[in-house]
Amino acid sequence: MATLIDGKKISAEIKEELKEKVAKLKEEGTEISLAVIQVGNDPASSVYVGNKKKACEFIGIKSVAYELPEETTEKELLDIIDELNGREDINGILVQLPLPAHINEDKVIEAIDSSKDVDGFHPMSVGALSIGKPGFVSCTPAGIIQLLKRSNIEIAGKECVIVGRSNIVGKPMAMLLLRENGTVTVAHSKTKDLKEVTKRADILVVAVGKPKFITADYVKEGAVVIDVGIHRNENNKLCGDVDFDSVEPKASAITPVPGGVGPMTIAMLMYNCVNGRM
Ligand code: NDP
Repeated sequence: MATLIDGKKISAEIKEELKEKVAKLKEEGTEISLAVIQVGNDPASSVYVGNKKKACEFIGIKSVAYELPEETTEKELLDIIDELNGREDINGILVQLPLPAHINEDKVIEAIDSSKDVDGFHPMSVGALSIGKPGFVSCTPAGIIQLLKRSNIEIAGKECVIVGRSNIVGKPMAMLLLRENGTVTVAHSKTKDLKEVTKRADILVVAVGKPKFITADYVKEGAVVIDVGIHRNENNKLCGDVDFDSVEPKASAITPVPGGVGPMTIAMLMYNCVNGRM
């Protein structure tokens, strides 16, 4: 039976540590603040933004909310970002994605000062990660590294396979595992004989965006399996990209969905706000 990697517990530990650090900083006269910008009222985005604000409140980070109407123009948004870039009392700027179709997301991400890019999506942050310089790191993959380290799972020298090469999960995950001295392979939709590749993995990270895609026959006996996917199944229950029931008996450790990778993303956003570039 696999050890369950408990993202709920680990994210709570991180938030407690951050809360203590923020209280100390406050005593020394430093306040941490995060600007959270939402354009339009997409219900899923509103839930994410609400959760981010709650986490800020818990930790003691001041959140400055910008709830902008759907019709906000690209220029109006860029002007707000420009103003926030120049404000010394704002440490981090987060623009909730996706943005309405009339706004160019890349342009908006690039407008954020890279020293306030707490989501880690700015090309400067991505570039810093790939050349091993300090920078903000995308929250979900940064959270996975914390899950592994805090579960005492060794990365150095291990065969690490990532299924998925998105800019926010797969690619930064590869860079982070490489930084931790893993031997890294990134698989994607054009990979030939995926099973042969995934079965080499000591650590298998799955970010494929397809419910229960990875079944036991993709997994080596004793592998550590990290499931990034989030889906609702036919019974409206959450499930991941990994078929948990078939994979769990074969794995040495595995993240559940919910309660695995999911809670780490916001915890690491808070971590980025408090600790700056890593
Ligand atoms: P994307 O859709 O951007 O990327 C999916 C990747 O999977 C692509 O690189 C694609 O390859 C690859 N892929 C698709 N089909 C196959 C296949 N048959 N075989 C091999 N590779 C394949 O997804 P994201 O990275 O944004 O997200 C992945 C999952 O993680 C989603 O379920 C998402 O909801 C979840 N997620 C969860 C987060 C959390 O906080 N827990 C945060 C972010 C995402 P190609 O590039 O060739 O098209």
